[in-house]
Amino acid sequence: MSFKPADNIQDLQYFGEFGGVNPSISDSSTYTFLKAKTMFDTFEGNTDGCYLYSRHSTPSNLYLGEALAAMEGTESANVAGSGMGAITPTLLQLCGAGDHIVSSRTIYGGTYAFLKNFTPRMNIETSFVDITKLEVVEAAITKNTKVLYCESVSNPLLEVADIKGLAALAKKHNLTLVVDNTFSPLSISPAQLGADIVIHSLTKFINGSSDTMGGVVCGSADFVNSLKSVIDGASMLLGASMDSLRSSSILKNMRTLHIRMKQHSKNAAYLAEKFEDLGIKTVYPGLASHPSHDVFKSMMNEAYGFGGMLTIDAGSLDKANALMELMQEKNVGYLAVSLGFYKTLFSAPGTSTSSEIPQEEQAEMGLSEGLIRFSIGLDDDIERTFNMIKACMIEVGVLQTAMA
Ligand SMILES: *Cc1c(COP(=O)(O)O)cnc(C)c1O
Repeated sequence: MSFKPADNIQDLQYFGEFGGVNPSISDSSTYTFLKAKTMFDTFEGNTDGCYLYSRHSTPSNLYLGEALAAMEGTESANVAGSGMGAITPTLLQLCGAGDHIVSSRTIYGGTYAFLKNFTPRMNIETSFVDITKLEVVEAAITKNTKVLYCESVSNPLLEVADIKGLAALAKKHNLTLVVDNTFSPLSISPAQLGADIVIHSLTKFINGSSDTMGGVVCGSADFVNSLKSVIDGASMLLGASMDSLRSSSILKNMRTLHIRMKQHSKNAAYLAEKFEDLGIKTVYPGLASHPSHDVFKSMMNEAYGFGGMLTIDAGSLDKANALMELMQEKNVGYLAVSLGFYKTLFSAPGTSTSSEIPQEEQAEMGLSEGLIRFSIGLDDDIERTFNMIKACMIEVGVLQTAMA
């Protein structure tokens, strides 16, 4: 594939007010107008380049939005105060009472809880399906379906969505395909494969410093403007806006995303292979044993690899917990949720990030108790890291279980 997401970011050129190499930060919540009439027109949405109030937009947020739209190859983008602050307005903008969503059943716990427990209050119903089976997805579509929702690489099971196949289904049934691409920035470009809307939690790889929350919705200019409408825009009215100080700092971090993603992917691929060789049940889209390895390969921008996320099965919750505690003690990384940090982060999704999903459903989707999700860090010497993890596995008895 010839799409070059990192070049698109690199080619943007912004200068600060005084010729600075970084754009100036707009340190204001409100903006003056020379003429009262211009203020009126701006509220009506009729003046380009005029700022109104920072919940609507700010120069700093527009710079970051432009960089993210360039990365995904969409017309426009709107940043939000968190990933959920991007996801929830998008779905509420697209769906109203009586509408129906077909969603992957393996999605971020917060998104799952929103669709399962919250949107039914507004009479928006969701069918959760195995997104890797296109015939199952199609069978779930009803005359009320408006949205097809998935993650490119799912949290936490790392299932891979066939975005081209889903886009064809969306087109056939006149649905909007929304893809959360948080786990695979740069590696996968969903809009280039036919997705209508691409969402990220910027909190994760894109910012990469675990120092802020953030989110973005990338899509057509029409859709992005509809989200920001002062009359009925869900982003504008629900108010999960980002602060300019934050967007300027995320923009700066984004410039090294391509270097970081290559290193996350390289390290994760190394560890995944080594874990598998040890006989540990390992899930990583870069492994030939991954059921969707070929689907990922057919979609990827090769330079960035298969991403930094992998899971292993430690055999039981007790073993998973013991292993995570020991790995933290030995400074392999941190027992923490989230992803995309320079240090390796690990957690047991069944009792943390996916605990919103009832036990029976967890079992049905293959989310076992002993599952540990890793966000692999930027370690310079990954062989050393592997040896540290292996020693921890032996000490807590994970390795014997796997080999037995
Ligand atoms: C973290 C995450 C979200 C939510 O983002 P926040 O920034 O925490 O609101 C959504 N989707 C995925 C895949 C995530 O990992």
